[in-house]
Amino acid sequence: MLGYRPIQCHKCGMKQKVTSATRIRVGLLSVVPTFILIWYFFGWQINTLQLPIILIIAIPLITAALLTLFMPFMARYIAYD
Ligand SMILES: [Zn+2]
Repeated sequence: MLGYRPIQCHKCGMKQKVTSATRIRVGLLSVVPTFILIWYFFGWQINTLQLPIILIIAIPLITAALLTLFMPFMARYIAYD
């Protein structure tokens, strides 16, 4: 999982930390699509198809894991002292 630790520039040594907007965006982006996926793909199938419980648990987890790959592209950093 992406940490929110401050980072330091390799060249000038300036310290930077993620903005609070980044935390909100990352939080929403990991939770909302996962719930939408569960709703649309599993909401009705759980009752009718009797999917294995491992699949019901694994697919949202895989989705969330894949989404975290995009987190670095959405993080915004600001400089601080
Ligand atoms: Zn720099």
